[in-house]
Amino acid sequence: MEQKYFKLFANCIPVKGASRSIICDLQRRDYQLIPNSLFDLLMSFPLFTITELIDAYGENERETLIEYVSFLEEHEFGGWLNDHSAFQPLDLTWFKPSEITNSIIDWNKDSDFEFEPIFNELNDLNCQYLQLRFFDHFKKVRLEELLTSLDRSSILSIEIFFHDSLEFTTNDFQRLLRRFPRITRLIVHSAKENRYFNDPEHFLDLIALNYTTQKITDEAHCGEVHSGYFSCNIDHFTEAKQFNTCLNKKISIDKKGQICNCPSMTQKFGKIGDATLNATLINEEFTTKWSTNKDQIETCKDCEFRYICSDCRAYTEGNLPLSKPAKCNYDPYKGEWN
Ligand code: SF4
Ligand code: SF4
Repeated sequence: MEQKYFKLFANCIPVKGASRSIICDLQRRDYQLIPNSLFDLLMSFPLFTITELIDAYGENERETLIEYVSFLEEHEFGGWLNDHSAFQPLDLTWFKPSEITNSIIDWNKDSDFEFEPIFNELNDLNCQYLQLRFFDHFKKVRLEELLTSLDRSSILSIEIFFHDSLEFTTNDFQRLLRRFPRITRLIVHSAKENRYFNDPEHFLDLIALNYTTQKITDEAHCGEVHSGYFSCNIDHFTEAKQFNTCLNKKISIDKKGQICNCPSMTQKFGKIGDATLNATLINEEFTTKWSTNKDQIETCKDCEFRYICSDCRAYTEGNLPLSKPAKCNYDPYKGEWN
């Protein structure tokens, strides 16, 4: 063993924070916390033998070094190689050919816009992810019409926040999930109790119906940062290194029908019908927010989770454009969630 070289696999990428680090396994979509001393070791010795490490750190550190290497082996973050020349670093370029990848459309009982023309525009822009947020009761027959109109669209994934309604039973919602496989998440808010249903008949095990007592009556619920929302995968990781993980290639329609980066932002770009989504994309004021990445954001730039974390530019500390998301309770300098 001591004659072979240890090397991290290309998909296992260490990220350093102020008080600790992580290794992101972008293939297995998982991460592990590591001390900063192990991060520094991996940066100083991208390729090492045990003998080299002991020579560099001293015999007194043998036990710690063996412990570190055992940890890396146990989590299969790397392997022992005779010939490492064939192992190239991962290409971390992020590219999506779509002009828009994701969109939010908000609706309440005072909304006076039609959904279908917006869907058509999103389809022309090759948008793939759509979030529909209904803050008030919405008719069953109309919801089915809307979802049917997306059947042949570019939209691959639809996340729905739906106001609980006597018109819908749990069976109705489950039938909806089976009939419209593009729905990847259905959250029924303002419910009487918190309930969670896995649907054994759905072709995807992961799809679930989630009832919550939380009242989602406007856009202010958005922007929470939580470890449960982390995405440790190559798409998110590479996008986060270059772009904003919430706003990049996003276009939204607020409940008043106004075009915006996100419904919680005060800057609007005209009303749908008067302005088009396509024309809005030419406006640099609209697209400039796409490139605010975590390495530019105060506090986040020192956080080990910065490339797997979501971001929020609407609710920020002190309402400043480059401050940390206000709804994040993590302190990377202490390594603690408050
Ligand atoms: S910027 Fe914040 S409030 Fe707006 S969509 Fe993103 S997370 Fe939500
Ligand atoms: S400090 Fe920033 S990067 Fe770290 S968890 Fe909070 S929002 Fe995410």
